Amino acid sequence: MKQAFVTGGTRGIGAGIVRALARTGFAVTATGVTDAEVANFESVANVTPVRLDVTIQPEVDALISSLQRLDVVVNCAGIIQRGGREFQPEAFARTIDVNLIGTMRVCVAAHALLSRARGSIVNTASMLSFFGSATAPAYSASKGGVMQLTKSLAAAWAKDGIRVNAIAPGWIATDLTLPLVESDEKSAAILARTPMGRWGRPDDVAGAVQFLVSEQASFVTGTILPVDGGYAAI
Ligand code: NAD
Repeated sequence: MKQAFVTGGTRGIGAGIVRALARTGFAVTATGVTDAEVANFESVANVTPVRLDVTIQPEVDALISSLQRLDVVVNCAGIIQRGGREFQPEAFARTIDVNLIGTMRVCVAAHALLSRARGSIVNTASMLSFFGSATAPAYSASKGGVMQLTKSLAAAWAKDGIRVNAIAPGWIATDLTLPLVESDEKSAAILARTPMGRWGRPDDVAGAVQFLVSEQASFVTGTILPVDGGYAAI
């Protein structure tokens, strides 16, 4: 059975991706950063929920080296710190550590297993990979970094049989965006700016990931695929 590993896979967009991969025949290791999140994950056949903090190198190494086989890695773990907090250097560094360095830690730890399986990686970029943010400079810098890291690893690891792509979700309704979903004013501004005029759902993003890890995408590497209801088009 093909094996997938999804960080941030016990909640939100990651959980949607995990359920979709399990439906299409993968055995999936889904990680969450807290015991509570892992315990609350609704049980799904062929999915193993486990706790992992992607900022702790030994945890990443131990978990990935416990796997026998790896066909797909999806880096979906991510944070944003609102209210101007990311203008403080410590908070800035924390967001970069989770979103960008965490992605790199997992990619490097998975390289050997992925190469053996001729597998693929999907990283999670954002609209803020393309645009700046007046309120979340670290998030935007981290997601710009994820975009360039994706292209760099695609170039470096094509010779090892590993494809590396990213999805760039638009505005998806999850815990991360709850303060925006729940604000009539902010939600209206987002919907007005989104040609398809609705919030995205984790399942919308999962479909794009299923394509990128499939045989249909066998010549696709180094691409950043917006899944955004047209947000980046205008
Ligand atoms: P979420 O808050 O529901 O999920 C975030 C996940 O990241 C959780 O599973 C959490 O356990 C995990 N995580 C947080 N810190 C971690 C750490 N230190 N180590 C390991 N895991 C950690 O948010 P979401 O909306 O589902 O976001 C998932 C990804 O999609 C993130 O990378 C986010 O930046 C990205 N994204 C979301 C949107 C959106 O509109 N929701 C848009 C673009 C990109």
